[in-house]
Amino acid sequence: MSQALHDALRRKLIGAAAATFLLTVSRVGLAASSQIVAVRVWPSSTYTRLTIEAGSEIRYKHFALANPNRLVIDLEDVQLTGVLQEISGQIQSADPFIRTARAGQFNGNTVRLVLDLRNEVKPQIFSLKPVGEYQHRLVVDLYPANAQQDDPLLALLQDYNKGQLDNSAPRGNKGKADPARPVVIMIDPGHGGEDPGAVGPSGTREKDVVLRISRQLKKLVDAEKNMKAYLTRDEDVFLPLGVRVAKARKIGADLFISVHADAVENRTARGSSVFALSENGATSTMARLLAKTQNDADMIGGVKIAGKDKYLAHTLFDLTQTATINDSLKLGKAVLGKMGGLNKLHKEKVEQAGFAVLKAPDIPSILVETAFISHPEEERKLVDPAFQQDMAEAIMSGVRTYFAQGAVIART
Ligand SMILES: [Zn+2]
Repeated sequence: MSQALHDALRRKLIGAAAATFLLTVSRVGLAASSQIVAVRVWPSSTYTRLTIEAGSEIRYKHFALANPNRLVIDLEDVQLTGVLQEISGQIQSADPFIRTARAGQFNGNTVRLVLDLRNEVKPQIFSLKPVGEYQHRLVVDLYPANAQQDDPLLALLQDYNKGQLDNSAPRGNKGKADPARPVVIMIDPGHGGEDPGAVGPSGTREKDVVLRISRQLKKLVDAEKNMKAYLTRDEDVFLPLGVRVAKARKIGADLFISVHADAVENRTARGSSVFALSENGATSTMARLLAKTQNDADMIGGVKIAGKDKYLAHTLFDLTQTATINDSLKLGKAVLGKMGGLNKLHKEKVEQAGFAVLKAPDIPSILVETAFISHPEEERKLVDPAFQQDMAEAIMSGVRTYFAQGAVIART
């Protein structure tokens, strides 16, 4: 063997060894990154969501079995770890869809997840890319296969999942105005389920405190003569923004009030504020940033159809929308005035930006920032039932003022 040939062979061998070494490293790296880091289960009366979070996208296969009803999901290139083994502990006895769950190593690199179901389900399974605090997520939504519900929510969610929800279309419930019909107010507790909303310095979650304030507000509205309130969610469930608006329109709401308690990095920021939709850009940088954070809720909470939402893309404003925004500003001003008696005001005027949840073209809609959950003192207030009640009363009082000022409910 010539020296030159010997050298060439040696280089080739070293090269091959290096390639093998690299392959080994990358395999190890891959295995480490497909670790399951969390499993979360969000049962609700409409649907139950199971989320499996991992360092990389999870490949899966699934099939259903009957007698008894089960859903089997094979997670590929995944090892059975404590997080998956403890899945049965995540299932609540009150879960309307899942009775029990278990995970086992099916073969060398597949973990089999078996969900024992209470009834036949229509599963929706999809992957989500990392967003916010979350890594890759595999989302398993269980909808009833044969549902008979009075609540329009299930049908709206199914339309949404098919990309068929269109909140810009006329409501189509034109009929004779019924003067005896109560004023209907849709109260929208922000966030829920996978989307905790803002989290305070002591760990208070926005989704929990706004639900409590919203329930108090509903009681106050229902106690009024000729008023009736509904909640977009009365559970810890994720609802896309468009579905919240669609529910308000379906029920024939006359007002829409979204309740929040947000956070900013600057922990000295405090006070209450009220927002309305804007036709031409935001009234301040803060309003623009807040609308962006709020609109991101769909990605954090997890929607199957991203970017196909007709309603989120809806930017065409017509005269109806302009009139609705004017009414929203009047309502916002009345509510802000009453909130000023309870808490410092962060802004003295109703601010405006492109909030997706306020885009019902025909329902005056406001977003109420009750307080800053990022401010330690305001976080303490937000968990205080007395403050929650006072806040609900301030909003109610603003609604009364709005009608006392001669607001007319358009009944077409
Ligand atoms: Zn919020």
